[in-house]
Amino acid sequence: MADYDYDLFVIGAGSGGVRAARLTSLGGKRVAIAEEYRVGGTCVIQGCVPKKFMVMASEVSHDLHIAEGYGWSFDNAKFDWPTFLEAKDVEIARLSGIYAANLGKAGVDLVHGRAVFKDAHTVQILKKDGSVDREITADKILIATGGRPWVPEDMPGIEHAITSEQAFHLPELPKRILIAGGGYIAVEFAGIFAGLGVETTLIYRGPNILRGFDDDVRAHLAGEIEKRGIKVILGCQHESIEKTGTGLLNRLGNGMTLETDVVMFATGRIPYVKGLNLEKAGVELTEQGAIKVDGFSKTNVDNIWAIGDVTDRMNLTPVAIREAVAFHQTVFRDNPQAFDYEAVATAVFSQPPVGVVGLTENEARHSCPGEVDIYLTRFRPMKYAFTGSDERVLMKLVVDATSQKVVGVHIVGPEAPEMIQLAAIAVKAGLTKAQWDATCAVHPTMAEELVTLREKQHPGNMSAG
Ligand code: FAD
Repeated sequence: MADYDYDLFVIGAGSGGVRAARLTSLGGKRVAIAEEYRVGGTCVIQGCVPKKFMVMASEVSHDLHIAEGYGWSFDNAKFDWPTFLEAKDVEIARLSGIYAANLGKAGVDLVHGRAVFKDAHTVQILKKDGSVDREITADKILIATGGRPWVPEDMPGIEHAITSEQAFHLPELPKRILIAGGGYIAVEFAGIFAGLGVETTLIYRGPNILRGFDDDVRAHLAGEIEKRGIKVILGCQHESIEKTGTGLLNRLGNGMTLETDVVMFATGRIPYVKGLNLEKAGVELTEQGAIKVDGFSKTNVDNIWAIGDVTDRMNLTPVAIREAVAFHQTVFRDNPQAFDYEAVATAVFSQPPVGVVGLTENEARHSCPGEVDIYLTRFRPMKYAFTGSDERVLMKLVVDATSQKVVGVHIVGPEAPEMIQLAAIAVKAGLTKAQWDATCAVHPTMAEELVTLREKQHPGNMSAG
């Protein structure tokens, strides 16, 4: 073997890269990792973690409303954005520090700077001005550079819009915001801003929010977020943004104009490969622009692998981490492992939130050999009994009628993300509806509905709340 500086060089210290680097270094290999921004990556710095803090800050307004129904009163309840921002940023810095410290403890060399390929075994570390600081060679290279927000760059006035990256650092809370997009990030930020008292409009060109989710979930959530004060405009293109003396004037495809203080684009994310000089290493991309890998995360180049969002397989933090573990086992432990993407639970931290695992009804109807049984309920959560609220929980089980296995679980309602983590164990284990039903309920809870759903849904007998 040629004499390389490292056994493994990882590009990107996010969810996937950090895990792969630590495991491999702890296994006795010489490992370095490059990070051009802040250690922790999207999840810790500008994704899951700060977003969840914002959701939690925002949900308090709803909790206060519920509390009033229970006899509490809050004469002077108010929210201070700068106080929240400071607390959030301190915590994010603490977490990033822990990530960096853990890399150090594992013996990984942390290289601050942007890494780009010179050839298949050499990376160049760039200075801020783009000049080359130094070159590092490695036997194996792992690309874990994540993704970036995508915005329609040719849209007039797009330079006035922000993405999720700036939404975490707005100097002040706007009075009015327009959020373009229908995916989970758009829906989550709409909930955050509406909960914090911002007049919030969500515009999406598709027929309903959360494309790819179960249709009942999509319809239910669209209705519920409107009850929380979000104006939802569907099937409508956002055409242009114009700066005026009083704000940003948005022209919409339906002929409407809408003035807001902030416009946020959450119209998707793309693999972050720009400027990596992949061609110098000979690494191929898919037609969609993601790094092309096999089931073991190996690229077309023998000594280069890629994991996480840059491969655009399933863009979630726990998945990037599991891909990192599988990569490490395969490449350094002589134990080939391919991550299994079936029955990965996921949550949308909308208000109310969503938790899903397994197949949607449509997917099941296409992939199950025979019939599909649907169990569905909508009900008012007990907690809202005194609030006069007409908010409803949705729970839906999708069952393969032939095997009787529960192949999909879909929940919209308080604590759905917590519930779905546990339901995912049963779905992953392939338990049958009878086994779910044999599980005794916990009373009084929302989750007990999951083991007491007895009536199959027939077309036309949709249960009403
Ligand atoms: P990343 O975490 O993106 O890390 C990549 C790192 O590489 C970055 O730090 C970047 O600066 C660095 N880098 C890139 N190029 C270079 C280079 N050339 N040289 C040096 N460094 C480089 N997932 C969930 O599971 N749950 C959630 O609730 C959730 N919420 C999200 C909310 C938002 C707003 C966003 C944007 C994402 C969210 N995600 C969530 C997705 C999750 O953050 C990603 O799936 C995850 O971070 C992917 O990890 P990764 O290792 O592939 O890349």
